[in-house]
Amino acid sequence: MATVGGDGDNANMETNQPNVETFFELEESQAVIRELKCCGCCSRCILRLIGVKRQSSYIDPLEVLSQLLKSKENGSSPSQEAEDGSAEPDGEPNASSHQPAGGLPSVTSGVCSVCLGILQGPCEKSHVLDLAEQVREADFGFENFTMSMVLPLQLLIREHCIFLHLKSMFSELYQKSSHGMIATIKEVYKWVCGPVMGDALDVSFYFKSPMEIMVTFTHQETEEELNKLLRRSKDNQPQRKRAKFFNAAANAPGRPVVISTIKDLPNSLFKELFSCPPSIPRSPCTTEVACWYSAVFVAGRYNKYSRKLSQTPWLIDGERKTESSIQEIVCDPLKELFKASEFRFSASGREDVDVRTLGNGRPFVVEILNSRRPIPSQAELTALQKRINKSTPDVRIRDLQCIGREDTNKLKDGEEIKTKSYSALVWSSPEQTAESLAFLSDQKDLVLHQKTPIRVLHRRALATRERIVHSMSATVKDAHHFRLFLKTQAGTYIKEFIHGDFGRTKPSLGSLLKCEVDILELDVESVDLDWPPSLSEPEDSDEDNSEQAKEVDRET
Ligand code: ZN
Repeated sequence: MATVGGDGDNANMETNQPNVETFFELEESQAVIRELKCCGCCSRCILRLIGVKRQSSYIDPLEVLSQLLKSKENGSSPSQEAEDGSAEPDGEPNASSHQPAGGLPSVTSGVCSVCLGILQGPCEKSHVLDLAEQVREADFGFENFTMSMVLPLQLLIREHCIFLHLKSMFSELYQKSSHGMIATIKEVYKWVCGPVMGDALDVSFYFKSPMEIMVTFTHQETEEELNKLLRRSKDNQPQRKRAKFFNAAANAPGRPVVISTIKDLPNSLFKELFSCPPSIPRSPCTTEVACWYSAVFVAGRYNKYSRKLSQTPWLIDGERKTESSIQEIVCDPLKELFKASEFRFSASGREDVDVRTLGNGRPFVVEILNSRRPIPSQAELTALQKRINKSTPDVRIRDLQCIGREDTNKLKDGEEIKTKSYSALVWSSPEQTAESLAFLSDQKDLVLHQKTPIRVLHRRALATRERIVHSMSATVKDAHHFRLFLKTQAGTYIKEFIHGDFGRTKPSLGSLLKCEVDILELDVESVDLDWPPSLSEPEDSDEDNSEQAKEVDRET
């Protein structure tokens, strides 16, 4: 790789010494440039193909090319004019059919044979401003964005064509250079158009952002090239591979399929199929723009203080069975905050409608889809959390925060390993005393065999599951009532453990105490999953809900 021109950052205009790094020595680059012009390459593709990797070089590619062609290494004139004789004595190309009249070495008036025009018209400011206007009309709020592109796959073929041609023309120069070493069409488009788009929308263009402006290019005129490649390659496949290949390639061949097909095809066969250099197209690509936010994940923990509230909307035959649900109380305001169209709520397990969830609460994650605004700050989320907590005495949420997609696994992973603590108000006959209940504390890691409870048989398969009650203790409330505290493996059916479910859970509290028992109330005291990370919440101290919390932290 050679740097042509001065050492500084700026081109030295006075001596026409451009500061452009290319794969080759200046004279070699000049020869390649002339050849590529004749092949109908646009100026940006020429810069790509001679190895220019600097973003700024692509803003005014004609100027850079002009400097490259005018430059004379070590003061001597280019020793060798291009074989087609297209260079004039002063280094300017003559007005061949490719080049319109004018001082600048405009490369081609036609559509570029390599990028199908993507790095020509669509990179013009007016075109980018058009797209920006369409983005503005889509009415998304955002402070930064990234750009993504969908390109016609036949570009892969055409790039291979031009490389094969360059390798045959300049075998020494292009021996080691390959597709992987040049700036891609995507990179160049983003380098040129990203900042212009950002200026037009008055927001920052980043190479990574949750807000994506996607530009889709299609080029119908050359689509047949792709079919030609895939058809030919199918014929080339061994018989047993054919069906598999055809399935993969049918309808919508992916980029990897096209790349591997090109790679597998011998160059001689490839050249039979496609002209190298590639043919000059008549029309440029068409452009479409769309934007969206990638999904955002919000995590938190909830307490449920009501025995008449379901976790998700509870409908039977279209009729509501509960007035509201945790999901609605938490997600509706989130949906509004994010201006989202959809969400998905998931929690680390679920409690029955008549079971409260106390202690530190139950972890949950909300996936927010098609949001139309930037990710809110933690302060905004904390304010929303406050608002949700004020809206109802039945639910209190905490630690509301944005998390990464990868963190959502922790909710699922936790389900396998977590333990839960419960307290239950139990009725018994005959009456129990502290002494008669004391032996429960000695029971450690008691193994239960639970047949699928009768109450869930309509939705769960019949099976016998082994579950563990890690520890228990009881405190007497009055003659016929005591409170039972349990720590169990996740997935244990607590109600069934207490009343025995007609002998379907063995052993049960009733069988251990050898008396008749029933469960009157059940609370989840803790879900032992230390996630999401706890946030300090100083505002809690002056919340109405702290009293609510105290009230439910009752002891009997
Ligand atoms: Zn091009």
